[in-house]
Amino acid sequence: MTLPPSSDDRDGKGKSEGKRLLLRRTPARSAETERALPPWPVLVVDDEADIHTMTRVLLRDFTFQDRAFEVISAFSAAEARGILADRTDIPVMLLDVVMETPNAGLDLVRHVREDLSNHRMAIVLRTGQPGEAPEHDVMLAYDINDYRNKTDLTAQRLFTALVGGLRSWISISTIETLNQTLEQRVIERTSALNAALRFSESLVEQLPIPVWVEDRSGRLTHHNRAFRDLFGIGASAGSGLHAADLLPETPDSIPFETALDTGEQRRDVIIGRSRLDHPSSEGGRVGTITDITERKEMERRLRELATTDDLTGALNRRAFFAAITQEAERAGRYGGQMSLVMIDLDHFKQVNDRFGHAAGDRALKLAAQAMRTGLRDIDVLGRLGGEEFAILLPQTPLAGALDVAERLRAAIAQIAIPVDPAPTTIGLTASLGVADRQGNESGPDRILLRADAALYRAKDEGRNRVVS
Ligand code: GH3
Ligand code: MG
Ligand code: MG
Repeated sequence: MTLPPSSDDRDGKGKSEGKRLLLRRTPARSAETERALPPWPVLVVDDEADIHTMTRVLLRDFTFQDRAFEVISAFSAAEARGILADRTDIPVMLLDVVMETPNAGLDLVRHVREDLSNHRMAIVLRTGQPGEAPEHDVMLAYDINDYRNKTDLTAQRLFTALVGGLRSWISISTIETLNQTLEQRVIERTSALNAALRFSESLVEQLPIPVWVEDRSGRLTHHNRAFRDLFGIGASAGSGLHAADLLPETPDSIPFETALDTGEQRRDVIIGRSRLDHPSSEGGRVGTITDITERKEMERRLRELATTDDLTGALNRRAFFAAITQEAERAGRYGGQMSLVMIDLDHFKQVNDRFGHAAGDRALKLAAQAMRTGLRDIDVLGRLGGEEFAILLPQTPLAGALDVAERLRAAIAQIAIPVDPAPTTIGLTASLGVADRQGNESGPDRILLRADAALYRAKDEGRNRVVS
C-alpha cells in the first residue's frame, strides 16, 4: 500500500483559498476550543484494517471549522448497520464497495437512504479496484456524494472529499432546521389565527343582541344564538333562509323602529342594518335587532299614569283638556260638529258624610263605569275633579249629545250600591249640562263655558236632569 504524501508537501494548488482555509494543520488550539467543539464523527466502513489506521493518521492533525475529526470504525457493512441504527449524527461515511459480499457497500447505501431515510449523511465510496466503480445511475439513485479510488487517498483528496461531504451535511441540516422552524412558526401562527377567529366567532355567537349577516341577495349567511332564539330556528337553519322571510325590509344605517312577528309573539324592535365593505361579503349587510317591547310597554304605562285618573280610569283633567282642545281645533279646521257634556253628581258630599270616603270612592268608580258603558269608542270620558266629569263627543250634534246625556243620567240613577247594614243601598243621581260647537269656534273655551252654564242650570232647576 502506498502511503499518501503528507499534507506538508503541497503542490502548486496549495495556494488555493480552499486549501488555506480547510487544510490547515492544527495550530496550537486553546484547550477551551477543544472542549467547546466536539470532533466531526467520520464513519469508516472497510474490511481492510490498514485503511482505518491510515485514515486516522491522515485526519489526526486537521480540523474543519475548528473541529477535529473522530474516526468511527466498522469492518463490515453489518457492523456499520449496527452503528448507524444508534447514531443519526454522523455527517460523513467513507465506504468500501466490496466487503462481506461484492455488493455489501452499495447494499449499505440503499439501507441508509431507503430503510433509514437518512438523506443527510454524505457518502463517499472508496474502492481498491477501478472495475468496482458503480455506474453513474447508481451514484445518482443512491445519492452518493463522491467516489474515490483508494490509491487516491492523499491527505488533500481525502480532505476535499470529507469537506465536500460535511458541507453538504451542514447545508441539508441547516435547511432541515430552517424548515422545521418555519413549519413550527406556520403551525403557531395558524393556531393563533384560528384562536382569534374562534374568539370573534364566539363573541358574536354569545352576544345577547340578535345579529345576522345577509348576502347581496338577502340570503342569511350568519346568525347568532340570540337571533335564532328570537325566531325559534335551529343552528342549522338559515342556509336557504332569506332575511325577508323573517324581517321587514329596513333602510341602511338608520335605526328603524317596527313591530316584529316572530311567529310566537309580537315584539317591538329597532332594526339596524349596515352595508359590509369587506371584499368577501360585498353588497351584503350586517344587522342587529334591539328588543324594545318592555321599554314600549313601560312608556305606555307611564303615559297612562300621566294621563288617567287612578280611581275611575277616566282621563285626568289635563289630558281631557288636551283632548278637547285638539278636537276643537280639528273641528275648527275641517268643519264638523262636536258636543260636550258636563256631569256633576248630586249631593255627593252627603254620600261621603253618611257612608264614608271608601263608599264614596266606590260610588265614583261605578258612576264612571256606567258612563263609559253608554259611550262609543271615540267618545272621551274625563274626570275634571272631585265628583265632576265631562264627556267629549266628537262629530256629534247637540240632539245626539242630549240623547247620550239622558241615557247617562238614567244609567247613573239606576246605580244602587249595597252598604252595611243590608239591605241599605246608596243611590246616585247626576246633573248634566250639554253644549255643542257653534259657528266657526276653533278653541275649547266657549263650549266649556256653555256646558258649565247648562250644568249650573240643571242644578238650579232641581238636579237629576239634563240641560242644554
Ligand atoms: P251638588 O249636588 O251641589 O253638586 O252637591 P255636592 O255635595 O255634590 O257638591 P260639593 O261640591 O259641595 O261636594 C262634592 C263632594 O264630593 C266633596 C267631597 O266630599 C266629594 N268628593 C270629591 N272628590 C272625591 C273623591 O275623590 N272621593 C270621595 N269619596 N269623595 C269625593
Ligand atoms: Mg256634586
Ligand atoms: Mg261638585
